[in-house]
Amino acid sequence: MSIKVINEKCVGCKLCVKACPFGAIEILNKKAVIDLHKCTLCGACIEPCKFDAIVLTKISPTDILFPKKFEEHKDVWIFCEQKKDVVQSVAYELLGKGRELADTLGVELCGVLLGENMKPEAQKIIHRGADKVYLVDSQALKHYQDEPYSKVLIQLIKEYKPEIVLCGASSIGRSLIARVAIGVHAGLTADCTGLDIDKKERFLLQTRPAFGGNIMATIICPNHRPQMATVRHKVMKEAAEDKHRKGKIIEKSYNADVYFSRTRLLDIVEEIEETVNLTEANVIVSGGRGLRSPENFKIIENLAKALGGAVGASRAAVDSGWKTYSHQVGQTGKTVCPKIYIACGISGQIQHLVGMQSSEIIVAINKDPHAPIFTVATYGIIGDIFEVVPELTRRFKEALKR
Ligand SMILES: Cc1cc2nc3c(=O)[nH]c(=O)nc-3n(C[C@H](O)[C@H](O)[C@H](O)COP(=O)(O)OP(=O)(O)OC[C@H]3O[C@@H](n4cnc5c(N)ncnc54)[C@H](O)[C@@H]3O)c2cc1C
Repeated sequence: MSIKVINEKCVGCKLCVKACPFGAIEILNKKAVIDLHKCTLCGACIEPCKFDAIVLTKISPTDILFPKKFEEHKDVWIFCEQKKDVVQSVAYELLGKGRELADTLGVELCGVLLGENMKPEAQKIIHRGADKVYLVDSQALKHYQDEPYSKVLIQLIKEYKPEIVLCGASSIGRSLIARVAIGVHAGLTADCTGLDIDKKERFLLQTRPAFGGNIMATIICPNHRPQMATVRHKVMKEAAEDKHRKGKIIEKSYNADVYFSRTRLLDIVEEIEETVNLTEANVIVSGGRGLRSPENFKIIENLAKALGGAVGASRAAVDSGWKTYSHQVGQTGKTVCPKIYIACGISGQIQHLVGMQSSEIIVAINKDPHAPIFTVATYGIIGDIFEVVPELTRRFKEALKR
């Protein structure tokens, strides 16, 4: 946006000076002069000017440098993250949602895979719903590195012009996609929990928690393409596998300068997880403030053990020091999607719900019948956790023995 005074029309009446909340306008030689260091382009001076002497132009320098040609952009792209030559499950989750979006827009769903000798994995991406896979094979791409990965993805986007690019909100995804968004002059919505399409405008509706998770905001990117978003692991359901599905693998290669990296990978050190990997567990039993003490978490651990599951916790329990942060489920903890999630003594505030509400079956145990957790629960047990949880553990143990 830009603002200017048309001197031929300005009579120096000072109405704009009064209207400007930032003290950015003064009258010099009977003409309004705008101090662009103070002006925020809010437009408060436009209406009071009776002589139409101030013009606010809504074209940004970026719009001039990169004019919109949206019709050139088509297809939904999924960046398919790989580790140790295996495509990560978050990519399959995005392919599931990507298929829906591509079908709504009437375009193709494409995977992007970078690595070394990854052709068999590219085939798996097609089995999970992609029509095409852009495969870039190089030793330089075997392990994730910021520079070569972002340069390759930028090149691909500039050449093929996708309409939408989605990526997992993993450590790799977060590091990569922000660089790519800058490189292609696009916006980016991080950590989406929902994606949809405004059919009329072809906008990607990107929903994510905002203002500390107190509201869910839906964000659109009307002025730039591609529309780019990251989505957390386990928020969306994995695409089903169909081994008969056919698609195209487009192999690309680039000059050495595209693969060049100023950093050198010396070693990869695996983090040793203190607990069962919460995000991969099929059953999670979580405890909240209702447990009252760290010792009482034993009843949660016993039930989890009986079901072969992992132990989760609300932030209240983690902040109280009853469980370590690696157990925390929710907006600032882990997003999980187990087959069964059992919430014990957890009220179900939105920040907890966004981390577990896509679980297949949710069982809530709470003594307050009005607790919000019951709004997402498949089964609700109104009762005292100190009675219900040990009894459930006993019954499950008995049943599983048979
Ligand atoms: C920016 C931000 C990020 C956040 N991120 C997260 C996050 O990642 N994860 C998260 O969990 N929270 C998060 N929170 C905190 C969230 O708002 C809640 O404060 C928190 O989830 C509450 O935890 P709770 O349900 O264990 O505790 P409470 O809300 O205090 O609920 C305790 C529940 O236990 C029940 N209860 C008590 N005794 C018994 C009993 N004997 N038997 C049965 N039921 C009983 C009560 O009825 C009550 O419903 C975040 C907050 C903010 C502002």
